[in-house]
Amino acid sequence: HHHVRYATAEGIEAVVDVGHFHPEAITWERLGTYRKRGGFTLLKKCQQGEVVLGTLLELLEQSGLRGLGGAGFPTFKKWRAVRAEPGPRFCVINADEGEPGTFKDRHYLETAPHQFLEGALVSAWAVGADALYLYLRDEYPGLHRVLREAIAELEQVGLATPGYIVLRRGAGAYICGEESALIESLEGKPGKPRHRPPFVAQKGLFDRPTLVNNVETVYWIPRLWEKGATWFAQQGRHGRSGLRSFSVSGRVKHPGVHLAPAGITLQELIDEYCGGMAEGHRLAAYLPGGASGGILPASRADIPLDFDTLQPHGAFIGSGAVIVLSEQDDLRAVATNLLAFFADESCGQCTPCRVGSEKMHSLLARDTWDVNALTRLAQVMQDASICGLGQAAPNPVLGLLRDFRPALTQQGIIVTDAADGGPV
Ligand code: SF4
Repeated sequence: HHHVRYATAEGIEAVVDVGHFHPEAITWERLGTYRKRGGFTLLKKCQQGEVVLGTLLELLEQSGLRGLGGAGFPTFKKWRAVRAEPGPRFCVINADEGEPGTFKDRHYLETAPHQFLEGALVSAWAVGADALYLYLRDEYPGLHRVLREAIAELEQVGLATPGYIVLRRGAGAYICGEESALIESLEGKPGKPRHRPPFVAQKGLFDRPTLVNNVETVYWIPRLWEKGATWFAQQGRHGRSGLRSFSVSGRVKHPGVHLAPAGITLQELIDEYCGGMAEGHRLAAYLPGGASGGILPASRADIPLDFDTLQPHGAFIGSGAVIVLSEQDDLRAVATNLLAFFADESCGQCTPCRVGSEKMHSLLARDTWDVNALTRLAQVMQDASICGLGQAAPNPVLGLLRDFRPALTQQGIIVTDAADGGPV
């Protein structure tokens, strides 16, 4: 394993376990080994009619499994909605994992690709899909090889019909992780999010009803079947339920993927799973959900981390990319870096996002931050952007204005409510 230390010009620094650098070095669980621990029992039972769809939907409902790509939509509801639409239908796995700071899907694909593939095939079976598409982040070339070989293993023993699983390379754009843009990209078009309705469950890939699930969501399905819904549902803390894979980076002793109870607080996550803060660093702030999930101060390190729990604080957990910042980090640099990222990754089809993210980026460079101008611009972006990118882009700035005014002042920025904003 390699640990890479990132230090960008803007000041965000992170130590990330990037796993195996050379594709050849990835040692993954081969089909034979996976089958020895019960692998593909569930798929066979589904195919042979020993497990019916209703049983599986019940299992998912009772376990409380939710979409782990970031939206947290209950998985059983999504399956049911797609299944209710007229065929032919498709199943797509979102393996684009582009949210900055997220690397959990990669971890599961690198270690147990067959458990993932079984979950994916079961979900395709559940909606009666004519084909199963895997949209894999192109920055994961080692995994492309792993999945190619794993699919070939399945085809050889007849667990998958040759050609049924279609492995596709991502287009290298953050926006292609958004499900409707991903579908556009799969169709060979530029990755631009679609207007909704219609939802992809009704009109998705090639205008057919389509189930789109995240890698980790389906990864859990064989395990849930083996261990039972209660096993999963009983994990959790502070009134929350289930397990979450946190991709932790930044100023902690042990960054990496940490599987922890849903609802764990940041402080508990750092203390119990990350070996505490890195030497010489004191917690100052954290990003609970990558670039888009907002920024929270150290004084809010005691909020349960889960879907729905962070909204009142102006943040969200998304795919669980937790980036830990210390007093040595430059807050303006953090926000500037994130806005530059959104401006760069905006697909450009709507004005509030395309122009707004660049405008906000440039406003951050000023010595005086005009709260009225920034919040008005943020409001327009949130209200009028087509997709989550433009809606979430102002989050880091809003978070800083809400919770970090003394810290910003300390860093030499004048934050004023007095100006009338003027035309932005
Ligand atoms: Fe494209 Fe941004 Fe509009 Fe989303 S919000 S559709 S990324 S321009």
